[in-house]
Amino acid sequence: MSEPQSETASFGFRDVPKTEKASLVRGVFDRSARKYDLMNDLMSLGIHRAWKDMTIERANPQPGQKLIDVAGGTGDLARAFVAKAEQRRKTRGGDPATAIVTDINEQMLLAGLKRGNAEHLTWAVGNAECLPFDDKSADCVTIAFGIRNVTDRISALKEMRRVLKPAGRFLCLEFSRPTTRALERIYDAWSFNAIPVLGEKIANDRDSYQYLVESIRRFPHQDAFAEELREAGFGQVGVTNYSSGIAALHTGWRI
Ligand code: SAM
Repeated sequence: MSEPQSETASFGFRDVPKTEKASLVRGVFDRSARKYDLMNDLMSLGIHRAWKDMTIERANPQPGQKLIDVAGGTGDLARAFVAKAEQRRKTRGGDPATAIVTDINEQMLLAGLKRGNAEHLTWAVGNAECLPFDDKSADCVTIAFGIRNVTDRISALKEMRRVLKPAGRFLCLEFSRPTTRALERIYDAWSFNAIPVLGEKIANDRDSYQYLVESIRRFPHQDAFAEELREAGFGQVGVTNYSSGIAALHTGWRI
């Protein structure tokens, strides 16, 4: 079940008034946007790329399909979705797939636009809790490492279901719980010692990276979050652990 209704929301290890969380999260990503891609590679030792590739394999992009990538940041998933569909289009024909990268933070979208190579992508500022898109307009909705930053997760999940076409698929990649105590200890040591230091040295911003590791620990474990997907109305809910649960892919369908 989701957390009981309350006036506060978690911001890392702190509880803050719900009305303040979005602007605090916004500050984190305003500060980290410029070095976001580099820090992602350093913090995860590049492994986030493999997790994202596996997510897009599961999304099974087809020519002509439309993706909405929520909290899409610099557009990794959207680029991979369109590229995979293009590979298939070479042999099968059809229209190009398209993707909308939507994010509450325009600095993140601008950092993505600067990377170039954005054919068939569009970029739109939008809050996951009230998406600026029509009902039943996407074949696939993804969100990677975004849901734990959202103030009201159930509202956001319902919104992502709303914009999916019937039989459309939802994929949520997020940090999760390591499945063994030994791995958890190594992971804790890396997260709490190395990541804030990397943030300080590379991005001159220790606090944002401290928030990052704390927010991961506050996020529900695999089974609890799967229950939230069901509560939001998704069917055929499933979970796949990546790297022994350091990340998990949550999937569901609009039935
Ligand atoms: N999906 C990208 C990736 O995997 O590289 C970016 C992930 S980044 C860790 C989290 C993103 O969530 C940030 O770009 C942030 O601006 C966005 N975000 C936070 N709260 C949001 C909200 N309520 N609605 C939409 N995006 C949000």
